[in-house]
Amino acid sequence: MTSLRGEGLVRTYGGVVAIDGVTFDFPDGRFVCLLGPSGCGKTTLLRLIAGLEVPTAGRILFDGVDLSSVPAHDRGIGMVFQSLALFPHLTVAENVAYPLRIRRIARTTCKMRVDELLDLVKLHDVRDRRIHQLSGGQRQRVAIARALAIEPTLFLLDEPLSALDALLREHMQVELRLLQQRLGITTVVVTHDQREAMTMADLVVVMNRGCILQAAPPIEIYHNPANSFVASFIGAANLLECRRAKGETVEIFGRRVTIPEGRASGISVGKDGMLAVRPEDVSLKPTVGENDFEGVVEFIRDLGASVEISVAVHGQTILSVSTPKDRPPVETGQRVGISFNTSRVALMPQ
Ligand code: ATP
Repeated sequence: MTSLRGEGLVRTYGGVVAIDGVTFDFPDGRFVCLLGPSGCGKTTLLRLIAGLEVPTAGRILFDGVDLSSVPAHDRGIGMVFQSLALFPHLTVAENVAYPLRIRRIARTTCKMRVDELLDLVKLHDVRDRRIHQLSGGQRQRVAIARALAIEPTLFLLDEPLSALDALLREHMQVELRLLQQRLGITTVVVTHDQREAMTMADLVVVMNRGCILQAAPPIEIYHNPANSFVASFIGAANLLECRRAKGETVEIFGRRVTIPEGRASGISVGKDGMLAVRPEDVSLKPTVGENDFEGVVEFIRDLGASVEISVAVHGQTILSVSTPKDRPPVETGQRVGISFNTSRVALMPQ
C-alpha cells in the first residue's frame, strides 16, 4: 500500500494547461475517484501519477519518496486503461499471466498466481476462452486481474467501466469497490460519472479546468460543496441567488432565511452568493403559509421509487424530490407553498 502526494503539479501541452498547479494527499489504502467534466485534466493527472507523463512543474511522492526519477515500470503500479488493451490472440489465463511472464516469474509461481487472480475476479470457468468470447463485464475483470498480477502497491484505472451498459456498470462498481476493500490497495479511478464516484470512493476529488476544486468524502462533498460548480456536479442541487444579510441570515426571493451557524462564513455581509438546496430538502404544500415561498407547479415526474416536482418561483425553477409515500398533494399548474430544510443548505460564493 502506498500514500500518494502531489505538490504543485503543472502539465502543459504547448499553450494548453492540462494541470494547473495541483496539490493533493491521498492516504494509504483509500479508494480515490477523480471526477470532473470532459477535458478537466483527470486522465493527465492519472498519467502523471503513473509516470506516463512528466510534470512541467511540481513533483509526486509515494510514501514520501520523490518519484521524479523513477520510470513508470518501476513504480509498482497496476493500471487499467479505458480501452482495456487486452491481447485478443491470448486466452484469459494467458492475458492475466502476461505481466508475470515478461518479468520471467517461474512457471509454477506464475500458474499459482493466475489461479488466485482468476478466483478473485470469478473468471475460472472461462480461463481458456479468448477475449472475443467474453462479455463486457468479463473483459473488464480480465483487465483488472492482469493489472493486479504484479501485486501493485498502487492501482490506477482510467474510466474502467465506461464501455459497459448501465446495469452492468452499477454491478461492476460494487464489485470493484468490494475487491479494493478486500485487497486494501490504494486505488485511483478516473470517472466523469458522479454516481459512480459516490458509489466507490472514500475520497472524491472534483476537478475543473486543471484544478482540484474539492477533495473530501462523498457525503461531505454532497452536504458541504465548496462552490456552486461542485454543488451542481455532485447530485442535483437547486442553486438560488441570494445575498448575505446580517447574522446568520440570507436574503432570497425578497425574504430572509436563517441558515445554520458557520455556514455563512464564506461570504461577507452584503455580498451576493448562492444557496445550494438539495431537492430532497425542498417541501411543497397546497397552501402558502406565512413563512413559505410561493410558486407554481410546472411539471411532475413520477419515477415510481421517487417523485420529482418542478416549481417556478420568481422566474427560477426549483426541484423537489420525495418518496411516493410523502408525495405532496399538489398538481401541475397549482399555486403551492415552498419551504426548505434550512439546517441542510449550503451558502457559497457565486
Ligand atoms: P475526458 O473525460 O474527456 O477524458 P480529461 O478530464 O481526462 O477528459 P485530459 O485528457 O486530462 O482530460 O485533458 C486535459 C486537457 O489537456 C484537454 O484540454 C486536452 O485536450 C489536453 N491534452 C491532453 N493530452 C494532450 C496532448 N497529448 N497534447 C495536447 N493536449 C492534450
